[in-house]
Amino acid sequence: MAAKIKVIYIAGTGKSGSTLLGKLLGQVEGYLDVGELINVTIQHERNERCGCGELVGACQFWSQVLMKIGGSKKLDQVHWKRLKTRYLPLLAIPGAGRFLRRYFSQLYEVHKAIIDIGQGRVIVDSSKSAFYGAVLNLCPDIDVYTVHLVRDVRACEGSMYRLKSEGADKFAARSTGWNSLRWMIVNRMTEWAARRVGSQYLRIRYEDLVSDPQRTLSEITRLVENEPTPLKWIDGNSAMLDKTHSIAGSGVRFKLGRLELRVDERWKENLPLRNRAVVEGLTRRFRQRYGYN
Ligand SMILES: [Zn+2]
Repeated sequence: MAAKIKVIYIAGTGKSGSTLLGKLLGQVEGYLDVGELINVTIQHERNERCGCGELVGACQFWSQVLMKIGGSKKLDQVHWKRLKTRYLPLLAIPGAGRFLRRYFSQLYEVHKAIIDIGQGRVIVDSSKSAFYGAVLNLCPDIDVYTVHLVRDVRACEGSMYRLKSEGADKFAARSTGWNSLRWMIVNRMTEWAARRVGSQYLRIRYEDLVSDPQRTLSEITRLVENEPTPLKWIDGNSAMLDKTHSIAGSGVRFKLGRLELRVDERWKENLPLRNRAVVEGLTRRFRQRYGYN
């Protein structure tokens, strides 16, 4: 029997640094950072830019993956959008896997094509959705390592607030109160879903990743590998980045060359006091769960 395909699945809330974590892991020999695989169909349809700088339709990597699975129609059959949220209630039912079985072979086919074309041994997926992650965990031929990435909710909100101030329509309707509730719900659901499907699980904090990348990345690779993995492209807080074929996510996926990692504390200046009071008031007890005072 063929070996199972290994996937590091980055789960958590938006604005937590998942694109950065995917990009960093994508520098490890044999690790393929594919970005948010759950958005591959939509990114392909819109012909958005791949992390390598090419449009998805012109990117050699994704063109070859599509050719191998038999074209973009095959991607549609996976129903990524449904897998993102719709199957949440199913997870509460014992034996939920049987309802999702019809997706397993399609998901395997896509993952196998990525491994073959990229000639890698581990796929790094920063789709974030707890439920898609759970579905992936139920696939018998895919070995999922869930990395739950948590970031201080005030920094997440600061980042969202900055984007809204810059006119990003996508976030315009999201209030600080809703973002705070969402942060708690998504993090709690991520823990629950991973436990429910018995995923191999590691929770990390964004702040620890950028303060000591060598240590945090080693923790992740130790979860996946039996032996230590060299991370020579990290020197203190500085990372040397090469291109990856990541789908969707933040602009850091296009970054090439040296990147200095540091904790982003702009929220302390940018987030209005009123918004800060709302976030802190709503999340106080829950925040402490992850060591944020
Ligand atoms: Zn590409």
